[in-house]
Amino acid sequence: MSLLVVGSVAFDSVETPFGKAEEVLGGSATYFSTSASYFTEVKLVAVVGDDFPEEHVDFLKSREIDVKGLQRSSGKTFRWKGRYDFDLNQAHTLDTQLNVFASFKPQIPEEYKDAEYVFLANIDPVLQLEVLKQVRKPKFVACDTMNFWIEGKPDELKETLKYVDLLTINEGEARELAKEPNLVLAAKKILSYGPKTLIVKRGEYGSLMFSDSGIFSAPAYPLESVFDPTGAGDSFAGGFMGYLSNIGNISDGSIRQAIIFGSVMASFNVEDFSLNGMKDLNYKEIEERFKEFKRLTHFEDL
Ligand code: AMP
Repeated sequence: MSLLVVGSVAFDSVETPFGKAEEVLGGSATYFSTSASYFTEVKLVAVVGDDFPEEHVDFLKSREIDVKGLQRSSGKTFRWKGRYDFDLNQAHTLDTQLNVFASFKPQIPEEYKDAEYVFLANIDPVLQLEVLKQVRKPKFVACDTMNFWIEGKPDELKETLKYVDLLTINEGEARELAKEPNLVLAAKKILSYGPKTLIVKRGEYGSLMFSDSGIFSAPAYPLESVFDPTGAGDSFAGGFMGYLSNIGNISDGSIRQAIIFGSVMASFNVEDFSLNGMKDLNYKEIEERFKEFKRLTHFEDL
């Protein structure tokens, strides 16, 4: 089944305690679609400026990502600059330049409108909602966001949340969105805004899913070298939505499996800068790490 994503395609400049990268390929939709491309057909909606090199578009095409929805506008591509200290769970945004995103009007190509799975990656919540208005009858809509929008456009974000099935968000951002320090209470409050399911991403501590069927806890893969956490959330979402779209089923059991595939993809992604940790994988490596997750969390019943 097909999967549509709208989000940012960006130039990222990132500093971690282990090195730095300047103006490398990034963006929420880029990480998401690269990750999801290992599971399903992905249709990408975003905008880039006239400074965006063709080689990056060729990379997306090489992953068989449909880029018909990637618009090119005159102006500069979105830029994000961030720094991580030794606590790699916390990104410090140094600069955000919306550039061509400031005047972006998403146009969903006709052949994308029947997409059954939709992911609204981190982007202005107004644009997320505009995309949702153009798709016909999606079976499952998930959404991501961040503090930039929680603080900058809280009402617009809450409006978008009314129409999504699932929200994925970082732990600190969940507390901020709900204005509630206790995570369980924060989750309850966020579910009352609209989504039926909430996934709270907790960096190296894994993730928690909250829904009517209870709470599910998934660990993060215990890596010896985490190089650059940028895109961890989006590659998680890509593995998660890519798997669900591939199997065409959104039962509680499938959502749990999808969370593990998301965690697998995030673990590959953080092993290198930009898309380097994820761009040359094969499905066997992904399945092998999925099985390692099973061993990691398995214990016998009483
Ligand atoms: P994450 O998966 O949360 O690490 O997301 C990292 C990506 O989000 C980076 O590649 C950035 O280009 C992108 N990003 C950062 N800030 C924003 C924003 N305000 N809107 C859209 N995308 C953003």
